[in-house]
Amino acid sequence: MKPEDFMTPKTKKGPISGPRVLILGSVHGNEPCGANVLPDIFALPLLRGTLTCVLGNPAAFRANKRFLDTDLNRMFDERNCPTSQEQNSREYQRAQELKNYIDHTDIVLDLHASTSKTSEPFLICESNGYALATKMGIAKIVSGFDVIQPGGTDWYANKTGKVGLCLESGFLGDPFSTVRAFEGARALLSLLGMIEYEPIAIPDPMIYSLVWQYTSQRSFIPQNPFADFAFVEDKDVIGRDGDVTITAPADGFLLFTRPCEAPNQEAFVFARSLANIASLRESPQG
Ligand SMILES: [Zn+2]
Repeated sequence: MKPEDFMTPKTKKGPISGPRVLILGSVHGNEPCGANVLPDIFALPLLRGTLTCVLGNPAAFRANKRFLDTDLNRMFDERNCPTSQEQNSREYQRAQELKNYIDHTDIVLDLHASTSKTSEPFLICESNGYALATKMGIAKIVSGFDVIQPGGTDWYANKTGKVGLCLESGFLGDPFSTVRAFEGARALLSLLGMIEYEPIAIPDPMIYSLVWQYTSQRSFIPQNPFADFAFVEDKDVIGRDGDVTITAPADGFLLFTRPCEAPNQEAFVFARSLANIASLRESPQG
């Protein structure tokens, strides 16, 4: 099988009932690891449950572009696509198809990669995903995207009562991102008792919380090519937007920092370290 075979979803069932898992690859077309591992994931022998694999944005994947008309991973929230121009986009149309698949599943794993050359793998989920995410062998977990940057596959899954997980598998040009994407999928399926495998546990993953997304006002130029999780201190310069200097609002960490040539583009998100999972377990609010 090849990635293009998953333009329409492929589903297989184990011999007994169990969780329904949907794995998406290359919702962003220039992040090839997700699509490239779908054949290997789909080939895993299932012990139970239902596994569906689908190539997120086939046309953008073929073109090796993040998207063709607009960012597919924002189109799941109608608030992000109020105009007829957005609703006529190929990505909006694709989101409606993918919503239908998410509606018929329990857990969504969306496989992504970062444009940052030094990016290390991390998981995006909200608190309903911590029980799984903290055992998937990934050292960093980021929550808060559902509020700060709504409209992704995981946002839609969470909003409709499922569990949405998004794995950032490292730099999109790193061939090892494919291995990490496969390992992430394999860890999830084994935690759910769907395949025979023992994931390598990381004892105490760190949990970060997004608190701010900066959107360009004119054109944004980062001060440095910040790696994901680059630490900045309160009032450190992050970049310049036109003639305005953008500084850190507190001590924290930068993710997805990128230059923006026009207004209204996502320039970076800013996270605080929340806790590690052990301290969350100890806290009465945890
Ligand atoms: Zn992506």
